[in-house]
Parts: sequence; C-alpha cells; structure tokens
Amino acid sequence: MVSRRSGLHPVDDIPEARRQSPLRPATTNPSPRRWVWFGVPVLGIGAVLVWWFSPRATPPLGMPEPTPAEQPQALLGHFPYPEARAEDLQAVTADGRVKLHREAAQAFLAMQSAARAEGVILVPLSGFRSYQEQQSLFYDVKAERGQQVAERAQVSAPPGYSEHHTGYALDIGDGQQPGTHIELSFEQTAAFRWLQKRAAQFHFELSFPPNNAQGISYEPWHWRFVGSPTSLELFYRARQGS
Ligand SMILES: [Zn+2]
Repeated sequence: MVSRRSGLHPVDDIPEARRQSPLRPATTNPSPRRWVWFGVPVLGIGAVLVWWFSPRATPPLGMPEPTPAEQPQALLGHFPYPEARAEDLQAVTADGRVKLHREAAQAFLAMQSAARAEGVILVPLSGFRSYQEQQSLFYDVKAERGQQVAERAQVSAPPGYSEHHTGYALDIGDGQQPGTHIELSFEQTAAFRWLQKRAAQFHFELSFPPNNAQGISYEPWHWRFVGSPTSLELFYRARQGS
C-alpha cells in the first residue's frame, strides 16, 4: 500500500526489511563510561566545596538579617503607612484637636475612663497626623536641630512612614505631670505604670519598647492600637522580629 503521506516521510519509501539500522559493534573497552561514572560525582563535590568556601555577603555583626518582605519597604528603620480617611477619624479631646481612627478612639476613651476611675489622668497629646504635618515635624525640627536624616529618624518617622498616619497610634501624657510629656521621664509617672499594667486589656501596646528590633529610640509615650483586624495587619504584616 502506498501511503498518501509517503512524500512527507521518505522512510516509508524504504523497503521495510532495510529500514533497521545495522547493530552497533559491541563495546570491547568500557573504560570511557567508567570515567563518566567516576567523574560526575567528583565534579559535583568540587562544585559544592567551591560554593561553600566562596565569600558571601553577610549582615554586619549585631544587625538582624531583614526578611525579604520588609527589606525593600523600610526607610531608615520605619515602615510606610497609609493615611487614615477623614471620615474614619473621631476626636478624643474636647477641642477636637487630637483624632484617632474610630476603633482606636473608642478603645482609648474606655481606657481613659478606667484610668480616671483609679485616679490616673491619661492625656492624648497627639493622634492622627497627615503626611503634611509629619513633613514639617520631620524636616523643620531636623533643620532646627541641625540633625542628619539618620539621626532624626531615630526619634521621628519620615513623612509617609509614621504610625500616626494610620490613626491607630497616639502619644499619651500624664495629666498630673505635664513636664514629662514626650520625655523619657514619662516612664516614671503613674500614667505609664498604669498603662504598663492595663493597656493590653484595651488592646494598646508600646510601639517602640527599649531595644526594639526596628532600632528606633525608646518611646514610653507612644502607644498603638492592635485590637482590630485592620490595625493588626497594618502593624504586623511581614514584620518578623519587629
Ligand atoms: Zn508618637
């Protein structure tokens, strides 16, 4: 039978009996193959040894290796945060000057009443901040103090990178000791001692405890709310070790 495809497949034109290729002569000397079996593992071990002893980039001593997720995002130790929407904000002072995201606002007001019932006055000093406000706080104070950016970033976040943008973070003072506002001495106040004991019940935590992994100066006055899925995600997503 003549195949219609025979033109495309010249092999079809060869009589079947002749198609088989002649047998290859039996190998009498197997040594080249033995060399392959021996050589492949030797080359493999060699490659592993070269890789193992080759110099590699290592983080400086004492610096935790950042996770890949946080490496491209962090700026001078601070993380980027979205600015809260105006309609989500609620005032926590009578004059309306200090505002928080309503979830944090309600929790703070409940915490403030609980403290007041025990004779402790928690004063909200600063809550939500816009990028614009953070810009003046970062650059104007930096200029005033003649600081380098890295130095300034130890105590203040660059615009776009402050927890205050979210409306979930606030600075708290002791109403009975205004001299300690935004000072390390706040740590010695009744308000701070009360917060250390009770803030977690209202889902507030210190953002920058002593020796924090972010490398930010200790701020006993700066607390953040982590009592809702949104706030928890904002502060904890891809933040191993911070
Ligand atoms: Zn703060």
